[in-house]
Amino acid sequence: MQQYIPLIFPTICALIICALVISVIVKNEQINQIKGSLVKLKKSFNELDEQAKLIVKTDLELNKAQEESDKRLKGLEALHKTARLISTTLDEQEIFNRLDQSLQANFDFDKILLFIYDKNKILKTKIRVSYSQEGGEYALSSLEKNTALMKAIQEGTVFSSVNTPQQRKNSITQCFSTEHFVLSPILAQNGFFGILFVGNQSNASPVTEGDEEIISILANQIGQSLENARLFEEVFLSSQALETKVQDRTKQLEEALEEVRNISQKKSEFISAVSHELRTPLTSIKGYASILITGKLGEIPQAVKERLEKVNTHSDNLVKLINDLLDIARIESGRAEMNMVESDLNHVIENVHDLLTPQMKEKNIRWKTQVSPEISSIILDASQVERVFINLVGNAIKFTPENGEISINAVLMDSTVTVEVSDTGIGIAPKDITRLFDEFYRVENDINQNVKGTGLGLALAKKIVEAHQGKIWITSQINQGTTFHFTLPLTQTREEKSV
Ligand code: ADP
Repeated sequence: MQQYIPLIFPTICALIICALVISVIVKNEQINQIKGSLVKLKKSFNELDEQAKLIVKTDLELNKAQEESDKRLKGLEALHKTARLISTTLDEQEIFNRLDQSLQANFDFDKILLFIYDKNKILKTKIRVSYSQEGGEYALSSLEKNTALMKAIQEGTVFSSVNTPQQRKNSITQCFSTEHFVLSPILAQNGFFGILFVGNQSNASPVTEGDEEIISILANQIGQSLENARLFEEVFLSSQALETKVQDRTKQLEEALEEVRNISQKKSEFISAVSHELRTPLTSIKGYASILITGKLGEIPQAVKERLEKVNTHSDNLVKLINDLLDIARIESGRAEMNMVESDLNHVIENVHDLLTPQMKEKNIRWKTQVSPEISSIILDASQVERVFINLVGNAIKFTPENGEISINAVLMDSTVTVEVSDTGIGIAPKDITRLFDEFYRVENDINQNVKGTGLGLALAKKIVEAHQGKIWITSQINQGTTFHFTLPLTQTREEKSV
């Protein structure tokens, strides 16, 4: 054991050294590992620092974007308010007043100028904010002198201090004495109305692209409102002119109508007077002729008798003509009283048929009548309406060839009776139809050359129908036949009864 003692110590020492070496190696390894971690940590710190910087930058940018979008929103609100204000009036001056107030109250611009073309095509200052009168005039005249700039504006270009090339920007700055501006044409469908300028003092905040957009939209809105106002004024003025013209014309027509009434009145008076004057000697002539024919004043030769009978017939025709003329004049002047009483239309037509049967028989003309049962009783002057039928049926017989047909129909619709007197005669040309109711108008045809007539029958029939508040008209086809239509109210109101 003792022999091993000297060996134990060095071995222990060697073991301790070995342990120490191993521990150093392990520590070194740990130190290396810590160093590696430190490098990584530093890198991470750097990265974090970068990210922090990025976050701050983004935050700044976000704030700026927020500010811009707030400004844009405010601008849009201002635009909406202003557009509503100016589009709800059609008075040009009122548009400028409202625009002036709204531009100052709702927009953030220090300087405003609005130039508008007047009716003589001269640009006039309509709104001026932060410019003296001279300042405004200077801006306008220097703008007008810059023909290239004016041309570009007229063609629709919007200029703003954000987007304008430096040289042009300088010229605009010179005109309006500010570096921050938007200059927009005022255009509408009918052309160029003027120019809107807005800006801020050179030392104040610059305008943005958003401002440019909003001002150009506002300028369009102004153009639209001005165009509407001017169109309205034009329409208003022309309607006024038209109204004056219509009034003048109406007055002229009333005067002319009054004159026609006077003339017509005088004509009626004249016809009445002449007819009365003619009637007395005509009665004497007829009386003397009749006495001579009877032979009471001595026998007269046959030839003289024949002539005297002709005198008699002609006198009768003349008396009929004078009576018709007198009746027309009386009805026209309102002196003829219609004796409106409840009558039987069938009865009136029957009377006419009885009266004219011999003439119809002569020509073998058939006769048909159809009256709706509900109109058997009607308020009218039977003797006057009988005259209408006599004239119409008399003509129908005259102008219908042998073996023809005459028919009378009467129907009731909405308290109005419509009567039709139709024939299968020679018909009437359209050119004559419009004049047939004129006094003394007769169509030029073979029958009229041989048949005597006055051209008064239809004029009298029309007057009588109108005195019954009715209407009369004709439909006809050459060689096919003619129908006279006339209306009569079933009953008459009190005022209508006395004509
Ligand atoms: P008159 O019969 O005395 O000539 P009217 O005033 O009664 O006068 O008629 C005017 C003209 O209207 C007639 O001359 C005739 O040419 C035309 N006329 C009237 N009724 C008829 C008819 N039923 N068919 C064709 N022509 C007619």
